[in-house]
Amino acid sequence: MDKPVLRQSLITSLLNCGEQVRLGKVVASRPDLIGHKSEALFYGTKFHRAVESYFQGRLYGYSVSHDDVLDGLRQSWHILEDGVPVRWQGSPESVLASAEKLVKRYLDWVDFQPQIIPLAIEKTIRIETEYAWLEGTLDMTTKDGILDWKTASTYESARDVADHSIQSWVYTLLESGGDIKLASEIPFVYHTAIKQTYQIYPFLKYARKEDLEILVNRMIPAAARLIREDGPYTPNPLFRFCSSNFCSVWDACRGGKIKL
Ligand code: SF4
Repeated sequence: MDKPVLRQSLITSLLNCGEQVRLGKVVASRPDLIGHKSEALFYGTKFHRAVESYFQGRLYGYSVSHDDVLDGLRQSWHILEDGVPVRWQGSPESVLASAEKLVKRYLDWVDFQPQIIPLAIEKTIRIETEYAWLEGTLDMTTKDGILDWKTASTYESARDVADHSIQSWVYTLLESGGDIKLASEIPFVYHTAIKQTYQIYPFLKYARKEDLEILVNRMIPAAARLIREDGPYTPNPLFRFCSSNFCSVWDACRGGKIKL
């Protein structure tokens, strides 16, 4: 039997709320059910694209000014990459103004860090494990490890992601080619931009060997079995991740209120 392909987001969905995975399949076959993307997700994607364009310059050795990056952000602001409309909470123009300010703050911050030398941007890696293929796209690899861009509303929510996401485990494992010891030695840093305060925080992490072993020996096999056997997809009992910010099928579920 073919091994399933697992990405960090899929493993996380299976662990947090398997219903997201089941409904994701239903929604994929029913275009009429595709709802809205959250403003936070849209904002995060645009921030990511903007700062990525800046580092493309460092990677390929040409100069990208802050104005170039901000012009690109403005020009692309109304483009929906996947065609899914955004559920705006503010006006699109006021959210753009916030995004411009945050990108500018970030660029001012990284200008003082010329030691960040990109080796690759948006690098997709796939490795084979006993039960599944593991795949991920790394925002940026540098000579000092892996770098991932994040936006968050508050410092606390950024800290929460940095402390509890399995992303550093998955990405260091991918970068190491599946070698747990090597993965535990690869630095993984979040560059987190806070929307409420316009501050930038780096969160440096190392995946512990014990956690990488849990990922390889327990989480990947369990997730692979759920995918292979098509469930059972258990909804999260506390509805903790029920919001348009966290759940990709919020419009089709609304915390279990819609049954599809
Ligand atoms: S809205 Fe809540 S229960 Fe429904 S799929 Fe999303 S996280 Fe799960």
